Amino acid sequence: MSTTYRSTRSADASQALSFEDVVMTGLAKDGGLFLPSQIPKVDAATLQRWSGLSFTELAFEVLRLYIDPKEISDADLKSLVDRSYSTFRAPEVTPIRKLTDDLYLLELFHGPTYAFKDVALQFVGNLFEFFLTRANGDKTEGRQQITVVGATSGDTGSAAIYGLRGKKDVSVFILYPTGRISPIQEEQMTTVPDANVHTLSVKGTFDDCQDIVKQIFGDAEFNSKYHVGAVNSINWARILAQQTYYFYSYFQLLKQKPDAKVRFVVPSGNFGDILAGYYATKMGLPADRLVIATNENDILDRFMKSGRYEKNAEAGVKATYSPAMDILISSNFERLLWYLARDSVAKGDDAAAGTVLGQWMDQLKSTGSVEVPQEVLAGARTLFDSNRVDNTETVATIKQIYDDHDYVIDPHTAIGVKTSQKCAAAGDNATYISLSTAHPAKFSEVVNKALDSNPNYSFDRDVLPDELKALASQEKRIKLIDEASVDKVKQAIIDELGH
Ligand SMILES: *Cc1c(COP(=O)(O)O)cnc(C)c1O
Repeated sequence: MSTTYRSTRSADASQALSFEDVVMTGLAKDGGLFLPSQIPKVDAATLQRWSGLSFTELAFEVLRLYIDPKEISDADLKSLVDRSYSTFRAPEVTPIRKLTDDLYLLELFHGPTYAFKDVALQFVGNLFEFFLTRANGDKTEGRQQITVVGATSGDTGSAAIYGLRGKKDVSVFILYPTGRISPIQEEQMTTVPDANVHTLSVKGTFDDCQDIVKQIFGDAEFNSKYHVGAVNSINWARILAQQTYYFYSYFQLLKQKPDAKVRFVVPSGNFGDILAGYYATKMGLPADRLVIATNENDILDRFMKSGRYEKNAEAGVKATYSPAMDILISSNFERLLWYLARDSVAKGDDAAAGTVLGQWMDQLKSTGSVEVPQEVLAGARTLFDSNRVDNTETVATIKQIYDDHDYVIDPHTAIGVKTSQKCAAAGDNATYISLSTAHPAKFSEVVNKALDSNPNYSFDRDVLPDELKALASQEKRIKLIDEASVDKVKQAIIDELGH
């Protein structure tokens, strides 16, 4: 089977982009997101065979179905996968952990930066290097290079840095607001010694940092000279890499509970993680339901209740205890909307779906809101449920899980666990796999707020891994930008690149 890609907003159903195009450009020229021309299907015999594979073997099988062997050979793909997951601390890469008979956690935080984004970004970094190395061969002049520029409010920058550190022909610049990220987050990013990694501490807010990055992307001249790239959550390779753990955790659970009716609960922000679950399910993973868990930035939960996809522009983004999920719009939701449109109003026609989606996205952009026909919402509800969890519930859930299970979860994971508990209370005899997206040490403030009243609890002893403890004494490399100015940031990039 040959696998090609197309944009969500294109009415041209025969667009046939390569996997390499899609990974290296991120966003389609028409502003849409890339989709595989078809979702590969796996049959019962294949699932049976896959159930005995290790995580890396399974990752190879899943990725193989979406990447044409003419683009990446079996041997190269195996090597990419092996290198990407050899950096994980757990032998199973993403182990499951039983909390109760009906509730299991899927621990996604055993990668180098203790957050689930490592699962995708370790792979994406290796892919970038693979494609660039192939394009450049052993050229000494005129090598194709890429400058990755991104902004972080703390948690996601480090996963990008650890994915790209030391990669040939890749430079990475991460902007963060001075004094507004936690010491551990700053240490994780700034103690990386690789020469291609640059952290810019910008005097301003996270929004200032994001604005600067947007302006840099919009600067055609700078862009063509420095080949600015992104590794943000719309990159298809990230969605693809995340599909493996849905299959893997399902198989692990069924070994313990052969007849389980499995539901996945996913703490969601940009809808990348749970979208991977959608693809896995469409491929043939027999998941019963997928549950979207949001914090107080609840655009997805509101959509599932009303069919209105509406940005809460007046209130703005709420700063919650689960900051990696603080969004106004879920950028990857566009991909699900395309499938929902195709399977309802577009009557199965890919080109018509592109047209419909383009109109919805135009309307969202101009009015901040789009209401989809009821049949589209009905389509979403055949597989998805949703729930919203606030800050008070987040703290209470961290405490309850510690009290009842002697186990510490982070605030993002708590959003999923609380949602699982609410769903389980409604009956249905299902088993929940709740995705645990970060290690609690990364969010010490909220975790301590929840647990400090327990006389036996100690953050340093019970939560903080030695590896993170050791960062405090390591040398930091930070470039201070004393004003939130795009020109100053551009100059800093030029200075560091030295050309
Ligand atoms: C990014 C992130 C999420 C949200 O994932 P999406 O793919 O954006 O929905 C949840 N938890 C943590 C810890 C994250 O870093």
